[in-house]
Amino acid sequence: AQHTGGHHPVQEGEVFNTRYQALRELGCGAFATVWLCQDMRRKKQVAVKVLKSREGFADTAQDEVTLLRCVNCMKKKDRAGENIISLLDDFRMIGENGFHMCLVFEVLGPSLRCLMGNYTTQGLPLPFVKKSLQQVLTGLYFLHKRCRIIHADIKPENILLYGHDKSLQRLLMDTLDCGQRTHVKLKGAGGDPGNQLEESDLMSIEVKIADLGSACWTYKPFSKEIQTQPYRALEVLLGLDYGTPADIWSTACLAFEMATGECLFDPQPGKYFSRDDDHVARIIELLGRIPPQIAFSWNKSTKFFSRPGALLRFSRLCPRSLPGTLADRHGWTPRAAAAFAAFLLPALHYAPERRASAAQSLRHAWITAP
Ligand code: ATP
Ligand code: MG
Ligand code: MG
Repeated sequence: AQHTGGHHPVQEGEVFNTRYQALRELGCGAFATVWLCQDMRRKKQVAVKVLKSREGFADTAQDEVTLLRCVNCMKKKDRAGENIISLLDDFRMIGENGFHMCLVFEVLGPSLRCLMGNYTTQGLPLPFVKKSLQQVLTGLYFLHKRCRIIHADIKPENILLYGHDKSLQRLLMDTLDCGQRTHVKLKGAGGDPGNQLEESDLMSIEVKIADLGSACWTYKPFSKEIQTQPYRALEVLLGLDYGTPADIWSTACLAFEMATGECLFDPQPGKYFSRDDDHVARIIELLGRIPPQIAFSWNKSTKFFSRPGALLRFSRLCPRSLPGTLADRHGWTPRAAAAFAAFLLPALHYAPERRASAAQSLRHAWITAP
């Protein structure tokens, strides 16, 4: 596959660092391509993430390695953190585009994004949603409290599936079209028969948090612009200080999307407003007025607000409620909608310091109930 813009053009069969032989592409993101490789020394398969070589990326790549090493170190110490991807090795490679940092990981399955592709209209089965959210939150608790790391890019693409037993892991890998990461095919979801995941398989699938490419230390945020737009926390949109609560906001967005098949916020730019403007407007419609002490706590917010609580570029908003949206748009019973909203709303609290923590979310009645 030929990639431009700093991606290293990997050839199948190519051997990295005299040890890892490229078999096929597993996935691709904004910053890297990931290859399934044969580790010729250990005689097993690994995933090698080859980072782009563009200038300025080298530092970011080094940060990713440093953070992952800290995670590994804390894992050994606490015998916890199994919901975070493990770094096995790292090396540098010279290609026609310059230096590339390469990270070697355990091989995991496709992402939650791939899985959700088959359930676009109705969302994933709730028991699976709750179980995987428990694992994501357990992983975040470990990152936040033990490692003092903010992940800063929680989204379906960065949550990877895996099977504890070999046959399930193989099934997960086989349901992928070779090289191209498309959809996991589920029985009854249409598509060609053959190797298919069944809904019962879903319940033995585990998830891990991957991609620490945007992560940073809680005591030393690296950049102002973090997270992927639909999952971006209010404080990040407004340019305020952020911390671990930003990950909880993204997790709430992820939870809603898994359970309904639709993005909680899907901001779009318009003729007279930016995507950020639309995003803030959609947030206010769903979650209510932003208190002036938050809206005016930093000067970037004057971009959005003309006076306390008023949005600069939108005169008319269509307020809606979270339980109402779940019931009207997604056909949930009022009872189920109320229970889910009771879990989501504390995780979407505007004030980061009052937002539910990973530990609190894990104890919530909605997620612990079968
Ligand atoms: P982003 O655009 O989200 O910042 P990125 O360029 O930093 O992405 P990753 O998210 O680390 O790259 O990896 C890109 C994709 O490759 C993932 O979404 C996933 O589909 C696949 N992938 C990554 N690591 C693994 C792994 N260990 N096993 C299997 N697939 C993987
Ligand atoms: Mg990614
Ligand atoms: Mg990334």
